[in-house]
This record gives sequence, structure tokens and C-alpha cells, in this order.
Amino acid sequence: MKVFISADMEGISGIVDASETNREHSEYKRGRALMVADVNAAIEGVLAFDKTTEIVVADGHGSMTNIEPEALNDPAVLVRGTPKPLSQMSGIDSSFDAAIFIGYHSMRGTLHGILSHTFSGKAIERLKINEMEVGETAMNAGIAGYYHVPLIFVSGDLAVTREAKALNPEIEAIAVKEAISRTAAKCLHPSKARQMITNGVVNALKKRNSIQPFAFKPPVEFNVRYVSEQMADAVEFMPSAERIDAKTIRFVQDDYLKAYGAFRASIFIALSVDR
Ligand SMILES: [Zn+2]
Repeated sequence: MKVFISADMEGISGIVDASETNREHSEYKRGRALMVADVNAAIEGVLAFDKTTEIVVADGHGSMTNIEPEALNDPAVLVRGTPKPLSQMSGIDSSFDAAIFIGYHSMRGTLHGILSHTFSGKAIERLKINEMEVGETAMNAGIAGYYHVPLIFVSGDLAVTREAKALNPEIEAIAVKEAISRTAAKCLHPSKARQMITNGVVNALKKRNSIQPFAFKPPVEFNVRYVSEQMADAVEFMPSAERIDAKTIRFVQDDYLKAYGAFRASIFIALSVDR
């Protein structure tokens, strides 16, 4: 069996503030230690289910070098560094049996979602894929689904677990904290949260065959509202871009990964005119 783990940071046990996810800040050292501990708890769950499982972990936050390689449980292979075509999902392909998201956060605009944003807080105000308003959970579940791999487990705050359950109620989702505001939450003790992640992963693996992959049907439309008008002005230069209004562009492709790639490229362009 092969299991793919994508790990973000905002939904990690105990984290509530961007200072803890930003490597320029002194709090970051604690944040990255909390991150790898949640990931290791998920690995424990996979190995408790089947100790021969191949595990690939993709570090999926910021520079994607948050997990210190020697701190990761050693059966897992670590994908780190940026940029890369599949970003937070780099390393996945159709040989995997299940995908797990650890430390995920809700989409921008969520009421009471810890550090909510959609891929780039600086560039993206709202993303719709095939008319569905999405955050990173659905977008990345769509990449797993493109390879016929089901998303079976998500951990993060209560808001992101709701986002995951909305995709498919069969997905096992563990809330390690409940937001009071975007930067405040009631947090479980990390050791309690990790125990719940380990147990949740075991439960998810037990029912993995009944969880359908989540995929967006082609043709795929990424409908993107940028933070500013000049971002959309610059993104409009892209060959596949269609301008909808002052801040909105859409990309339509026959292939999900091509549409996703256009979205990703557009963020680099948008950020280049951010001033
Ligand atoms: Zn992140």
C-alpha cells in the first residue's frame, strides 16, 4: 500500500497566529516542531494500520522546507522545496491508495477559520472551480482525484473539517482546534490532538475502499478573483486568460492539471505587480 500525506501549517495543533508559521519570526521554531509532530502522528496511524505501507510526505507550507528532515518518522520519504508543478501535492501519482491532509486550513472568507486563505493570501480573494467555491482542501483533493486517489483524512481547525465533510461526508476529519476568530482558537493539548490524528488515520484507512476519489470533471474552469485590479490587468496577458470583470479572470482547460497550472502561473504574475 502507498499513502500520500500533504502537510500545511495553519491547521496544525496549537497554531493560531501567522507569527508561528512565518520563518522570519522567533515563534516559528515552535510552529515547525508542532507541524512535524502532527505529521508523525499521522504516520503512526498509517503504520499501525499496515507497517509495510510506503509513505510520501509533501511539505506544503510557504517555502515548503518547514519539516526538518531528521525530525520526520523515518519510514516516510519527504518532498520539500519550491516551486514545483504540483506544489502541496508534489509526489502524488496514480500508484497511491489514499491521500491524507494534515494541518489544513479553511478557504478565504470563512467565518472563524484559523488563518483562512486560498493558496495565496496576497493574491487570491476567491477561487471557484467549475462553479464551486473552493479552498486548498477541494483544490488539492481534486489533484488526488485526478490520479484516482481518494482523500480519506483531513486534520485542522473545525472550519476546515466542515469544508472536507462538504466534499464528501465519508472523509474522516479531526478538528484539533476551534476558532474564536481568525487568529484565536480553543486548542486541544497537542498530545491529545496527535492521539486523535493517529486514531483517525487508522479509522480512515479501514474504510478507504468506500471513499470515492473527488475529482473535477473536464472541461475545468478556474474562476479567479484577485485581490487587486492591477493583478487581473497583468494576468490577462496570459494566453488562456479570459477577463470577466475588474478583478476576475477565468481559465478553462480540458485537463484539470493544465487549468491548475494556469492558476498557479497567474499567482506568480499577480504577485509581481503587487505594490
Ligand atoms: Zn500554509
